[in-house]
Amino acid sequence: MANMQRGLLMAGNWKMFKTRSEVEAFILGLAPVFQKSSQVEAMVCPSFTLLSTAQKTIKRMGLPLKVSAQNMEYREEGAFTGEVSAIHLKELELRGVLLGHSERRQYYNETDVAINQKTKVALQYGLLPIVCVGELLEQRQAGNTDTVVIEQITKALEGLDAKQIPAIVIAYEPVWAIGTGKVCETPEANRVCKLIRTQVTAQFGADAANALRILYGGSMNNANAEALLSQSDIDGGLIGGASLKVDSFAELLNTANQVMSQQTVAVV
Ligand code: PEP
Repeated sequence: MANMQRGLLMAGNWKMFKTRSEVEAFILGLAPVFQKSSQVEAMVCPSFTLLSTAQKTIKRMGLPLKVSAQNMEYREEGAFTGEVSAIHLKELELRGVLLGHSERRQYYNETDVAINQKTKVALQYGLLPIVCVGELLEQRQAGNTDTVVIEQITKALEGLDAKQIPAIVIAYEPVWAIGTGKVCETPEANRVCKLIRTQVTAQFGADAANALRILYGGSMNNANAEALLSQSDIDGGLIGGASLKVDSFAELLNTANQVMSQQTVAVV
């Protein structure tokens, strides 16, 4: 059963897709989803050049949709050509930033140390860090999933204070499930998310770990979302492909809302 206190977060990772007019049209098209009352936190993550277009469109329409970036540099300013810092993201009044997505680890050699530095700086600037972890196919096949995920979590959160943990989101994204159409089996996805929570409990205590939202990401779509979102330790989704079309993202937000309202009925 999804956890009512933590609530669900549904974040669309648009990667290097969409133009300005497509972002505007998407947000306009998503507006009806917000006509019903919603307890789900909805978010989109456009590329840097479209962050302010998304923010302006959302503001103009008065929608409760949040906007986050897909990456940032950990240094605040300086001679770092081509980089964008937490100061720039904060100026746009963003909700947060994705950190350590597997594509950043794979194509841009992003390390656990860098992800840890970025997490600390994002927190310092009041940005919600959404820290991505997850094993490669070879690592899963070799039986190393748990070791890999625990190591990524330990390193990403090193040096943080227990009080900061509720201001972070972890996204468990098995790399072999990203963009492949091969979703992780629901019980296994929940098992790894629970493992992450157990690791966070060991590092920071039960209160911090119970307040931490852990998302699942990897080929989430409307056929598998309800089962995934109803699990005890999955607090939402990080969604790539299915967040690119307004209809499929709207369906996912509606499903998340349904899961939340079923839990409300169950609790009452
Ligand atoms: C992602 O890019 O984080 C992701 C989960 O993509 P997809 O939903 O397409 O697997």
